[in-house]
Amino acid sequence: MLTEEQKQKIWRLRLEGRGYTSIAAELKLPLSPVKSYCRYRGLTGAGKAAAMNAALTVDKRVFCRQCGKRLRHTPGKKKKKFCSDYCRKKYWRDKNDN
Ligand SMILES: [Zn+2]
Repeated sequence: MLTEEQKQKIWRLRLEGRGYTSIAAELKLPLSPVKSYCRYRGLTGAGKAAAMNAALTVDKRVFCRQCGKRLRHTPGKKKKKFCSDYCRKKYWRDKNDN
């Protein structure tokens, strides 16, 4: 089983176009849960293609940019990019750290 933290990291690394093997190595996880999680989230294919798929779904504001959680939009309100303030802040903090 993957923890929420690990799932978020997989999602983020996948968005950067990383392959399964490199993600598994970085997170010190076996390959199979990484692969099956990516499949489950529709992040399959070669790194670049998966990143594009992920970027598209993020662009359509389907998933939180930070953690990959499915977003719930309120009709009539501006579409959100993040599931919570926590994720929004964390996203920008992580960006600035790099
Ligand atoms: Zn989130």
